[in-house]
Amino acid sequence: MKKQPGKPKKGQRVLVIGAHPDDVDFGCGGTMARWAGEGAEVFYCICTSGEKGTDDPNLPCHALATLREKEQRAAARVVGAKEVFFLRKPDGELQYSLEFRGDLVRVIRQVRPHTVFTHDPANRSFDIQYIFHADHRVVGELAFDAVYPAALNHNFYPSHLLEGLSPHAVAEVYFFASAHPDTWIDIEPTLHLKLKALRCHASQIKNPRMMEQMVRTWFGAWGREKGFAFAERFRRLEIFQNPGERLKKLKETLK
Ligand SMILES: [Zn+2]
Repeated sequence: MKKQPGKPKKGQRVLVIGAHPDDVDFGCGGTMARWAGEGAEVFYCICTSGEKGTDDPNLPCHALATLREKEQRAAARVVGAKEVFFLRKPDGELQYSLEFRGDLVRVIRQVRPHTVFTHDPANRSFDIQYIFHADHRVVGELAFDAVYPAALNHNFYPSHLLEGLSPHAVAEVYFFASAHPDTWIDIEPTLHLKLKALRCHASQIKNPRMMEQMVRTWFGAWGREKGFAFAERFRRLEIFQNPGERLKKLKETLK
């Protein structure tokens, strides 16, 4: 197992990039509640508003989009996230594009996170339909490419400089729902908040008791792998050991 994650530093900024409302709460809600409680500043970037997520033919997409954004904002408040950015890309139709990557780079340059959490672009086993949703694959890949090298290099999206946004070095990325986890975070103290955040997504939950049972079973099994009652597990990738140093050098070259 690689290095265990430490506690976040006070004021450490964390950006979670997810494809749909509720992905971040399933993927890392327990960890975000824990880190926010320990002083981290948590931000969410949700790429779509999940407007296709219904079987109800009488519920129009625009109405569901508004409802799901409201649900995600409520869930973010439960875990203590500070702000939710919605990119409002079309649900179920995400495609890799340089423009989309630029939108993620803009959010990274605005939020200036030390840590980014997102879907794992290395997942390619297609053994669980929810995890291998096409939108998750696209967002994982785009988030990775936005972190490195695009957000860091002033030659990528130079118009951001005119918007007052400067290049930014992310220190580390945690991929959730990874097929190759190397980092387990104990979420026993915040499982109740993860469940409460998930319950906010009422439009997506037909049977809250079943959802709760599923979450307890799944995250309980992952916890037992490392001696915890419940854990979220991730693949962690260090991008820069000292991102501050890297940014200082960047600033000097931009002078
Ligand atoms: Zn999703």
